[in-house]
Amino acid sequence: MTVAKNPAGNFFDVAIVGGGLVGASLAVRLAASSLRVVLIEAAAPPISAAAWDERCIALNEASQRILASFGVWSALSGEAEPIRATHISEKGRFGSTRFSADEVGLPALGYNAPLRAIGAVLSSAMAAAPKLKLLQPARVAALEESADHLSLNVESADGGVVIKAALVVAADGAQSSIRKLLGLEATTRDYAQHAIVSAVRLSRPHQGVAYERFTPDGPMALIPKPDDAASLVWTVPSANVESMLAWTDAEYLEAAQATFGGRLGRFTALGSRKSWPLSRVMNETLVGPRTVFIGNAAQSLHPVAAQGFNLGLRDVANLAERIIGAADPGAEQLLADYAATRRSDRERVSGFTDLLVRAFSNRTPGLAQARHWGLVAADLLPPVRAALLRQHLGHLGLPATGLGVPR
Ligand SMILES: Cc1cc2nc3c(=O)[nH]c(=O)nc-3n(C[C@H](O)[C@H](O)[C@H](O)COP(=O)(O)OP(=O)(O)OC[C@H]3O[C@@H](n4cnc5c(N)ncnc54)[C@H](O)[C@@H]3O)c2cc1C
Repeated sequence: MTVAKNPAGNFFDVAIVGGGLVGASLAVRLAASSLRVVLIEAAAPPISAAAWDERCIALNEASQRILASFGVWSALSGEAEPIRATHISEKGRFGSTRFSADEVGLPALGYNAPLRAIGAVLSSAMAAAPKLKLLQPARVAALEESADHLSLNVESADGGVVIKAALVVAADGAQSSIRKLLGLEATTRDYAQHAIVSAVRLSRPHQGVAYERFTPDGPMALIPKPDDAASLVWTVPSANVESMLAWTDAEYLEAAQATFGGRLGRFTALGSRKSWPLSRVMNETLVGPRTVFIGNAAQSLHPVAAQGFNLGLRDVANLAERIIGAADPGAEQLLADYAATRRSDRERVSGFTDLLVRAFSNRTPGLAQARHWGLVAADLLPPVRAALLRQHLGHLGLPATGLGVPR
């Protein structure tokens, strides 16, 4: 869809800036309400090459519930491989911990789905929503505040259009343009690591088990895919990434196997490799004047423990629950209440991923003992285990309705 030069009525209740996984999920949810919604996405249709890439996304159990409540899970479930257990270990040390769906009486702890499939399902749901306006490819170039709305100058190849909205939702990623236009700051920590992502074929069935293996250079994750393949996410020092991408498939498989070990037999084939630089970007605030930041625009995390989109989806579910039916979706108090309810989930998850990266990517001997006892505690101490499981399932940040999770 292209920019309408003279859209009939340019006042919206909600303008979503950014149609990545998070902005698109919110658009799909709000399209089922009476709110007038516009989504502005910079990349060209039908899909954003930047956002709908070849990665797989490990969705936790809460995310599956959220997507089901948005009416899109049934279209995605055929492409999503159940994760029935998670195994966490550290290279070179004894001790590991394992969480399983059986111990919580659920069919799965989560599902591994191709990002492209999630994007396609969200795109079709948006295309089927008659009231939802899509401006794409288009960018917000300027923003002006008024008492009861924000005006956005939206530019595209066809020219410009002014959009007015009671609430602007910034879902425009870690380098949020809305953040910059509002003169807000974010704190960034460069991990000096890259994630190299590829698929591998396994000589043994994975039986639905996802593995996270920590090494001093960074974590390696293997997440089950259909047909005894797995997504391999290998975090490596940035200084090594170019040479590792230049290795032959055989060299890469051999090195990955040496790091992972033989739990899944041999790695027999490799898909294409792509790398991502890793940093943590925390927006200084979740809200601004008639503005709210969600997903990576609010917090962009290291992919260890696969938390980013899961957290962003909880942003979406909580925000939607607050603004649907509100007299003024951009009211200051409403946004302050939203920010207050999201604070603990955001701090817990961003703090946890940061701690994991820094504690495990460290050769200090005292820390090695602490890590070992951390894994033992996660395995043996019931309260620690229960808290970690709830976090793993994503149940701690669900909106007030709870989506059927017992409280
Ligand atoms: C290697 C790797 C593996 C990962 N694995 C997992 C996982 O297994 N599970 C998980 O939960 N998370 C995972 N994540 C995190 C997850 O990918 C992100 O949290 C999620 O994709 C963020 O989505 P988003 O929509 O917030 O941001 P983005 O994907 O960055 O989307 C932002 C969108 O805004 C658009 N945009 C930008 N500026 C403008 C503008 N000015 N005007 C209009 N549009 C604009 C962009 O074109 C883009 O489409 C992983 C991340 C990495 C790097």
